[in-house]
Amino acid sequence: MSEVNESDLVKTETPDSPDTLAPAVKTDADPSLWRPKKKSFLGEQLKAVAGFGVTFRNFFRPYATEQWPFEKVPTQPRYHGRHHLNRWADGLEKCVGCELCAWACPADAIYVEAGSNTPEAQYSAGERYGKVYEINYLRCIFCGMCIEACPTRALTMSNDYEIWDDNREDLIYEKDRILVPVSDGMIAAPHPMVEDATDMDYYNGKVTGPTQAQIDWVKAKRPDDPSLPKAVATRQAEEVKA
Ligand code: SF4
Ligand code: SF4
Repeated sequence: MSEVNESDLVKTETPDSPDTLAPAVKTDADPSLWRPKKKSFLGEQLKAVAGFGVTFRNFFRPYATEQWPFEKVPTQPRYHGRHHLNRWADGLEKCVGCELCAWACPADAIYVEAGSNTPEAQYSAGERYGKVYEINYLRCIFCGMCIEACPTRALTMSNDYEIWDDNREDLIYEKDRILVPVSDGMIAAPHPMVEDATDMDYYNGKVTGPTQAQIDWVKAKRPDDPSLPKAVATRQAEEVKA
């Protein structure tokens, strides 16, 4: 510990001890600490030109400006772009409404409200599903913490970086813009899970498509469902349990 000389102490007044001696607060009032060094005669003459040094140095280098949106440059494969809420192979949603993504988000950009699946309206392979799902792209910093937190890999990030709009409201994406569409072969939710399958069978990749029973269920409940014509029964219940 350095010694304090009496000359460095000044009188202070506190309610407890009105005449206390305390170390003086040192300021960097010494101009040599902050004043720029004096230039030589030549430096003084060239200082106006020196201001353009960075400009001149970069004048003949190749430019890196991208002409988006006229030329779309592909991203790196692991680029963090717009989110996707994914589906299982039979069309059920992977999101179980657990809110872990929302809790992990440092920017508080995700809002989730869970709903309960019922026999008449089963949206996901579990007890609950993401009834309300919103991502606020005015807040999102594309860090990817949410996708790391998701236990079902329901939430992933795509390479799509074209997220823009001319108003703030439309940059809050709701579930209809985040949930991926039903692919060919799948059958749109809601519908029951594959017969006798558990949620673990889904997580373990044993469900590779809708069963005929699922397709028949949707045909009976929603005969006009647009996913019906392309639905393909690819796996039967007994194969899931094998
Ligand atoms: S990428 Fe980061 S900031 Fe964006 S929603 Fe996910 S956790 Fe939040
Ligand atoms: S996206 Fe994943 S983490 Fe977020 S609520 Fe759905 S299941 Fe949970």
